[in-house]
Amino acid sequence: MTVYDVVVIGAGLGGLTAGAILAREGRKVLVIERGNSVGGAASSYKVGDLFVEGSLHVTGDPHHPRDPKHSALIRAGAGDAVQWIPAGALYEMRGGPLTQPFVLPDDFAGARDALTARFPDARSGIAQFLGEMERLAATVGDGGLEAVFALAPEFPDWSSTLADKLQALFGDNEAVKCAIAGNLSYFHDDPATLWWVPFAMMQGSFLLTGARFVQGGSQRLSSGLARAVRVGGGEVLLRRVVSGVEIGEAGHAHRITHTARDGSDPQTVEALTVVGNAAPGALAALMPDAQGERLTRSYAGRTPSLSLFALTLGLSTPPRAFGFTSYATQLLPDWMTTLASYAEGKALMAGEPTGRMPPLAIADYAAIDSGVPSPPYVLSVVGPDQTSNWSGLTQDDYRAKRSRWQQAIIDQLDRNYPGLAGAVTAASFNSAQSVQQYLNLPEGSVYGFAPLPPDNTGAPYRSPRTVLPGLYLASAYAGVGGYSGVVQSAALCADTILQDNPKR
Ligand SMILES: Cc1cc2nc3c(=O)[nH]c(=O)nc-3n(C[C@H](O)[C@H](O)[C@H](O)COP(=O)(O)OP(=O)(O)OC[C@H]3O[C@@H](n4cnc5c(N)ncnc54)[C@H](O)[C@@H]3O)c2cc1C
Repeated sequence: MTVYDVVVIGAGLGGLTAGAILAREGRKVLVIERGNSVGGAASSYKVGDLFVEGSLHVTGDPHHPRDPKHSALIRAGAGDAVQWIPAGALYEMRGGPLTQPFVLPDDFAGARDALTARFPDARSGIAQFLGEMERLAATVGDGGLEAVFALAPEFPDWSSTLADKLQALFGDNEAVKCAIAGNLSYFHDDPATLWWVPFAMMQGSFLLTGARFVQGGSQRLSSGLARAVRVGGGEVLLRRVVSGVEIGEAGHAHRITHTARDGSDPQTVEALTVVGNAAPGALAALMPDAQGERLTRSYAGRTPSLSLFALTLGLSTPPRAFGFTSYATQLLPDWMTTLASYAEGKALMAGEPTGRMPPLAIADYAAIDSGVPSPPYVLSVVGPDQTSNWSGLTQDDYRAKRSRWQQAIIDQLDRNYPGLAGAVTAASFNSAQSVQQYLNLPEGSVYGFAPLPPDNTGAPYRSPRTVLPGLYLASAYAGVGGYSGVVQSAALCADTILQDNPKR
């Protein structure tokens, strides 16, 4: 039987980054991925002639030394694997309590000026919050989550939710709250349970380094990382499903069984260390009962993050012809008169699209030098969703409901950008349920565990270590979700393994 130093289960950004760093450190690495291609959520593909970007709207610029991805991607050998294209601004916020659209620039000085010019009465709150965001973003870029958590004694409101934090700074000025935080679906679905610290740190990273898109789509980044694994001497297997994981006693090798996607051709390999890029819940299901239960119990208090629906539209005409003026637009529905009401968005798709529409995060890939092929001109529309909205339906009923929601979202866009509906030539709709199935992601939780305030039990907030010695996590579950959080936590996972297992 082949014995590897490290077997990585899953070739999402987390698995690939950890795998590439470990391979370049001379470890014998095998990455096993059930999908047709590497990348997990960080994938792009075609549906007919429609280019679908599986996830990426924006991330920070890894060329900036304080971007959380900066050193991780260099160490993974992918520092120059792709072009990072400026998004121009972080977003344009429209609707909800905002009477006029508001553009948030993607740098601190620009953001401070634009917010203060628009909301002069909130000047001191804006200055304080942006100052704190800058501090937290710089700290996470320099030293990771541990360094951020060490700042706790300096902030009397450290454990506050975002809702409480913004209330203290801005009172009932809902427009300024939405201007600063209305892109909530990039992090969580409810400001009343979102911890303000990770929000400030992640939103701050965009403003510190600049908002970027990967030219040609996120698949290029994932493929670049897979290339780095191979160049480092590692292997990446595609279309192979890990079907069994047995963590050995201390000092013994672990056994990983993988099969073809139809369950045939089982093969077992041994590893000194196992890295789970797949979610802890998915890993537990692959283990002998006692081990699986132990792993599951250790995360019992953790809430899964939000899920998202993602509608990709192909248009015969560039979106700017209908009034899109920014690469990224956050379209808040009229019923959302407060930031708090964002929380109602995720449950809307449980019903029919007869009333309220969810808040929408939109990326117009034709607005920048995105490298996304056109025509059709691609518009990505993302919003909060949950798997339970789609459960209990037959396949036919599921498809019919999904197409009714697709049409309702197109109609909603058309009301805001007249003429758009008539230009739609292609569409692809992934619900939270599709995300769950495609990524083998319990609850379709695209950002790992929800970034809630710390629970004061003393348990580490996030860690690549698990309760099973020999099993580590490199994924959104080991850090905060999103490209930056995943890549940074995967580098920490690789470092932890190198420390725990010095080369013999
Ligand atoms: C619609 C959408 C929009 C998003 N927008 C953004 C954005 O604009 N900016 C941003 O920063 N983040 C965004 N995100 C979040 C970001 O994409 C994710 O947090 C990140 O890519 C997760 O990476 P990961 O490595 O943790 O996991 P994943 O990408 O989920 O990878 C896990 C991999 O494990 C594989 N796997 C699972 N089980 C097995 C098994 N048994 N055997 C073999 N392989 C297995 C899966 O197939 C998958 O490839 C978005 C996500 C979605 C879905």
